[in-house]
Amino acid sequence: MQETIERQGDFVPVPASAKVGTSCTQEQYDAMYARSLDDPDGFWADQAARLDWVTVPTKIADWSFDPVDIKWFTDGQLNICHNALDRHVAAGRGDVTALIFEPDSPDTPVRHISYADLLADVIRMANTLKKLGVKRGDRVTIYMPMIPEGAVAMLACARIGAVHSVVFGGFSPDAIAGRIEDCRSDWVICADEGLRGSKRVPLKGNVDEAVKKAPVKAVLVVRHTGGDVAMTEGRDHWYHELSEGVGTECPCETMDAEDPLFILYTSGSTGKPKGVVHTTGGYAVWTETTFRYTFDYRPGEVYWCTADIGWVTGHSYIVYGPLQAGATALMFEGVPNYPDHDRFWAVCDKHKVNIFYTAPTAIRALMREGDAHVMKHDLSSLRLLGTVGEPINPEAWRWYHEKVGHGNCPIVDTWWQTETGGHMITTLPGAHAMKPGSAGRPFFGVCPQLVDNDGDVLADETIGGATEGNLCITHSWPGQARTLYGDHDRFVQTYFATYRAKYFTGDGCRRDDDGYYWITGRVDDVINVSGHRMGTAEVESALVLHEMVAEAAVVGFPHDIKGQGIYCYVTLNAGVAADDDLARELRQWVRTEIGPIATPDHLHFTPGLPKTRSGKIMRRILRKIAENDFGSLGDTSTLADPSLVDGLIEGRLNK
Ligand code: ATP
Ligand code: MG
Repeated sequence: MQETIERQGDFVPVPASAKVGTSCTQEQYDAMYARSLDDPDGFWADQAARLDWVTVPTKIADWSFDPVDIKWFTDGQLNICHNALDRHVAAGRGDVTALIFEPDSPDTPVRHISYADLLADVIRMANTLKKLGVKRGDRVTIYMPMIPEGAVAMLACARIGAVHSVVFGGFSPDAIAGRIEDCRSDWVICADEGLRGSKRVPLKGNVDEAVKKAPVKAVLVVRHTGGDVAMTEGRDHWYHELSEGVGTECPCETMDAEDPLFILYTSGSTGKPKGVVHTTGGYAVWTETTFRYTFDYRPGEVYWCTADIGWVTGHSYIVYGPLQAGATALMFEGVPNYPDHDRFWAVCDKHKVNIFYTAPTAIRALMREGDAHVMKHDLSSLRLLGTVGEPINPEAWRWYHEKVGHGNCPIVDTWWQTETGGHMITTLPGAHAMKPGSAGRPFFGVCPQLVDNDGDVLADETIGGATEGNLCITHSWPGQARTLYGDHDRFVQTYFATYRAKYFTGDGCRRDDDGYYWITGRVDDVINVSGHRMGTAEVESALVLHEMVAEAAVVGFPHDIKGQGIYCYVTLNAGVAADDDLARELRQWVRTEIGPIATPDHLHFTPGLPKTRSGKIMRRILRKIAENDFGSLGDTSTLADPSLVDGLIEGRLNK
């Protein structure tokens, strides 16, 4: 496996246009990165100085991984809502558009909301929450569609010092109830209904079910579709009614840097959701700084991140990062394939989007539908593209680069996690040549280290050097999660116990000779075939390279001779039929692409793959099915389409 495809990767140079006016050249990156390690206090005090502080911090890095106690900017005080809104308005930028709202249907009017108007909306929501009795430190559950009021609800909580827990609008009543209970939240903010591809999502109805199991004091309901919903007297309140006559002023609560800002439950690719806690100061600095440098945002540009506010990507890169940086961010309510498969590109064209940030799963899905959908739109406004969420197969990367970006846009492949608060490994657009499939270089202050299963350091982390192992981070960074809500022990056990005094990411990774990092998949997913360790991402990328394959998921299963065999679930392009010949061809294909050791033992064609609601393949379930272990599939509550699983089990039984 040592000399497989893309082992080293080909450089794709930075387009010349991206270097003009960049916020970070390669020399600047080198100098800033070196300083961020040598003088973290000075470096982060300087980054923090872009924000407004009530009390400017003097104590900057203040952390230990053994015992685990993480603090940043400890004696500083600030409010992140003030930094996202008030200070821009105070500086005369109130007329700048903060949010562009593109509704589910292209025929529904667009909304442009200025910083001044967004501030007024947030104050109204904040005062309404106060009227309901919400106080500093209280947990508020937010279950909203992708409409501006979702962001307003988050910012209103931040303004009054309440801790928000956003639950993705696609989750079931059980999932909501579990999250309400876990953080003992007494309030829920939701909408009557959501809209996704013209279908109505019964948000209030789901909350009604959830609060039967997990009772709350009040439910605040934003009217969106106007659909019929049941209101329980004394508990449920219409936002438009309750907010009538509330004051137009609401001072920002002064928060300590280490006061919690939000709880967010991870998407659940690997087990029971964890209530990740982020605090105010470090998160504010991390999201502002990463947004600024990774996306190289320039005033007047339109930035669009297609994530949902229910995920950390939406928190950090729709709400807190862009707004703190004073950017114009687009919020899209709908789905990529409604009314047709060209919707993303139609929206880019309509709003002249300059920076576009999406997930590999969406790119693969759109690629599968053919190029015509992209070709019919003018995408010349695009200047920068980004991806997040999973390793991107080089094949999909190239399609994104050529067909969407016309070869002119740098692509930032941002590796990070709910727990990291923001970007950790990525190329910076003006500074680094790219390698399709590699996330790139560490962000300022990030010290990655690759260790073997015994925790021994592979190669020398200060010099680098090519190696492959388990990805750890040795030093804290401001955006790091501080704990899991109500369970600090689980936090320590999950992230700091595997390798003592290091943050363990759970991901496998390879570093090449150029110091570029390649995420090979989750460590739990690594397959060991006859003693050869293999990342699932590599075999999947080889399969996706075949012109008939749309998507692939690879897992290991017990094999008498090899220890583990390779089991591949494969989804074909629209219109391609599966047969034994194709299976043979694909087996041969992988063999040629990677080597005989990677030859798949089983190919299992399926119309779709089980994914989390955030679009990630749930290999945990696929592994169980490949192992013929159908009884213990684990927590499937975060699956987007649970019915797929039955079909997969049936397919397995017929093998
Ligand atoms: P859970 O932790 O509950 O199992 P999750 O890990 O899917 O869920 P997230 O925090 O949203 O929840 O995802 C982080 C993970 O996503 C990373 O650990 C990594 O496996 C993957 N990931 C994110 N971005 C990238 C990227 N650019 N390249 C490769 N992998 C990525
Ligand atoms: Mg995770």
